[in-house]
Amino acid sequence: MSVLVFADHAEGKFKKIALELISYGKSVAKKAQSKLIVATINTDEDQELAQYGADKIVKIKDSRLNAFSARAYSDALAQVAKQESSDIILIDSSSNGKYLAPLLAVQLEAGMATNAISVPETIAPFVVKRMAFSSKGFVFTSINSDKKVVCLAKNSFGLKEEATNPEKVSFEPKLDDKDFDLKSILVEKTSGQVTIADADIVVSGGRGLKGPENWGLVEDLAGVLGAATACSKPVSDLGWRPHSEHVGQTGKPVSSNLYIAIGISGAIQHLAGVNSSKVKVVINTDPEAPFFKAADYGIVGDAFEVVPKLTEKLKVF
Ligand code: FAD
Repeated sequence: MSVLVFADHAEGKFKKIALELISYGKSVAKKAQSKLIVATINTDEDQELAQYGADKIVKIKDSRLNAFSARAYSDALAQVAKQESSDIILIDSSSNGKYLAPLLAVQLEAGMATNAISVPETIAPFVVKRMAFSSKGFVFTSINSDKKVVCLAKNSFGLKEEATNPEKVSFEPKLDDKDFDLKSILVEKTSGQVTIADADIVVSGGRGLKGPENWGLVEDLAGVLGAATACSKPVSDLGWRPHSEHVGQTGKPVSSNLYIAIGISGAIQHLAGVNSSKVKVVINTDPEAPFFKAADYGIVGDAFEVVPKLTEKLKVF
């Protein structure tokens, strides 16, 4: 038996979640006393994979897989899982990963758990601790099938370097034209900046910023920190910021290491989408703003005074 990780990449560059997934996979493989197999699609980049503990790299090659197709990816990975006798298959919790994992689970007749945040204590029974209820609680899910598919939540495990010298093989999957009935044909970036999904740090603004003309405050702070910018729902509804920046229950989920909320009250629907960020910093004039209850650090103050000072101070780092 082996543990299989699918390491997704964007234009040949592995996403942080992919490397985190390999670190996680290594820990699961150690617990299972088995090898860690890492599968990639249409890339020859592999240095980083060895840095985080891959014992074997299976390079799936088929030019039709350059565009994401959940069915085709699932078919290809199921074939690798069979070839490598993988009983545990690990996928990231990106939007593609969450689309792919259930198809793969059906194909392998595997039990599946999403949003995993830690390594199961034992392989049998295999109990996965998962984030649930909009990150307000945990659920422990026992997967009793022989094969298991697990999606790891972003920023839940961290990167753990462990250099290896993996065997590398190419793999040509047998894919049906039907696999490509539905595929992404174009990925259009909404900006050239750090995306909310990939960001370690997110700086977010709310209605307290009064208008779009004041967004320089958010952008300057984000620029200094190498962060993505985000906003509350009313801000995007008012057209102050693009909808792609709206975070919360009905917007994008944020699971960053640091989330800075400026002039955001902390309504339950906003918190539902950002609660799983590791450290939350709130800047708000109202000491009674609900966000302070969920914050790790809070500054009661006017954003127009506090944020420029903070940006200036952070420039020296
Ligand atoms: P406000 O609630 O108006 O808060 C502005 C804050 O700025 C206040 O706390 C104020 O004290 C502070 N402030 C004012 N001036 C300053 C200053 N100079 N400096 C510092 N602070 C200042 N909202 C989301 O964000 N995401 C969602 O996904 C989402 N989904 C929703 C789904 C449903 C079904 C519903 C009903 C609502 C949803 N909402 C969502 C809306 C949510 O309920 C809140 O209305 C919204 O989050 C409030 O946005 P805000 O904090 O920017 O604005």
